[in-house]
Amino acid sequence: MPFSIGANSAGPAEIPATSTKVRQRTQLRDHYGAFHSRGLMEQSATCIVPLLEMVFWHEVRRRDLWSSVVTERVVIIGSGPAGWSAAIYAARASLEPLVFEGAISEENRIRGTLPLGQLALTTEVENYAGFPAANLTQFLETALPKERRQYMAPHSGHGVTGPELMELMRAQSVNFGTRIITADIVSADLSKRPFVLKTSDDTVVEAHSLIIATGARANYLGLPSEDRFKNHGVSACAVCDGALPRFRNKPLVVVGGGDSAMEEATYLSKFASKVHLVHRRDEFRASKIMAARVLDNPKIQVEWSSAVTEVLGDDQHGVTGVRLKSLKDDSERTLEAAGMFCAIGHTPNTDFLAGQIETDDKGYVVYKTPFRTETSVEGVFAAGDVADSYYRQAITSAGTGCMSALDAERWLASRGIH
Ligand SMILES: Cc1cc2nc3c(=O)[nH]c(=O)nc-3n(C[C@H](O)[C@H](O)[C@H](O)COP(=O)(O)OP(=O)(O)OC[C@H]3O[C@@H](n4cnc5c(N)ncnc54)[C@H](O)[C@@H]3O)c2cc1C
Repeated sequence: MPFSIGANSAGPAEIPATSTKVRQRTQLRDHYGAFHSRGLMEQSATCIVPLLEMVFWHEVRRRDLWSSVVTERVVIIGSGPAGWSAAIYAARASLEPLVFEGAISEENRIRGTLPLGQLALTTEVENYAGFPAANLTQFLETALPKERRQYMAPHSGHGVTGPELMELMRAQSVNFGTRIITADIVSADLSKRPFVLKTSDDTVVEAHSLIIATGARANYLGLPSEDRFKNHGVSACAVCDGALPRFRNKPLVVVGGGDSAMEEATYLSKFASKVHLVHRRDEFRASKIMAARVLDNPKIQVEWSSAVTEVLGDDQHGVTGVRLKSLKDDSERTLEAAGMFCAIGHTPNTDFLAGQIETDDKGYVVYKTPFRTETSVEGVFAAGDVADSYYRQAITSAGTGCMSALDAERWLASRGIH
């Protein structure tokens, strides 16, 4: 009977009995987490989610759970490696963090911002320390409750997959008392204390301190064929995917003309037989030194004044090439390639902050002090890709997630909030 209030879907360990109204309602919302697998979303978003919403709101109205606002000590917004690492640390410090993991919505699916973050969009993760190539099946069976494993793809035995790693982090944070709400934060008022947050469910939450771990999303070209081959040859991260066997000693395409594109093309040239760098203009936006590195690299061929109009491939091989259009004379040709890497930038998920904390010109949160996670608003901390346009890795996000929780804990203690 999965949807009754009080049932614990948390996994092997009990949530500590820190009962508040918020805790009750988060337990109920936590059941929704089982449905964030993309496969299930696609199959059943139209029927199951609305039904669950109905059951949930019926329960909420019946028990009048929303009648009072509880001021949280730490609210964490975001559900990638940064958010869960912050939650593990904050929970172990007995701060009972409340995590908003994002909403299961069509908008988030299209943007690539469903709960569990960017890593849940990929398959094998080979560079997160502590997960060597091994068959993790038995470990996963004991670490995760069955209902949260049933929609995962069969295990390759190669290491850990992105969704598995994120589920493990989530479960670990719940084991120490983290409470989770499956909704977006749509606006925040950081001018008052406590801070006031509004959710996509139209609920208001107050918080003494806030950790922003909302990540960033990769920009893609927006072609339907590109969507079809994501994880099957289309990627937005050379450091993450470039070393995978499917790309080794094969021709690859990189799209872009800025510093990131130069970096991605140079990095991929170590593995690929050849890299075609496709750029819309006849000169690069990148810095001179980065551009020179590319132009001097015999394995990189620049396809000037060109745009990818279609990603070619099939179900068996994934990407096999791209169709290119010349922006000078509209002529078309195809390039053979085992992969296409988009290097046309990322968009940090900071819209909901509406300019209330300092960001750079691209919208990334700016840290006030190097090696600290404090932002321009006292009591608000940031972690992960939302404040990092440079490293953008799961392990670096987890690292700043840990730092943000320690910073928040110390800040709360300095204010006498325990
Ligand atoms: C296809 C792909 C493959 C990758 N492979 C690797 C790899 O192999 N190794 C590696 O180290 N890195 C890899 N990365 C990069 C890595 O995934 C990111 O660096 C990392 O996930 C960033 O973590 P984060 O916690 O900062 O945020 P994210 O993972 O971006 O998660 C943030 C999440 O917070 C939630 N959120 C956003 N806004 C709100 C809001 N307003 N309210 C509530 N919730 C919200 C959303 O669910 C969002 O997805 C890959 C990235 C991609 C796209």
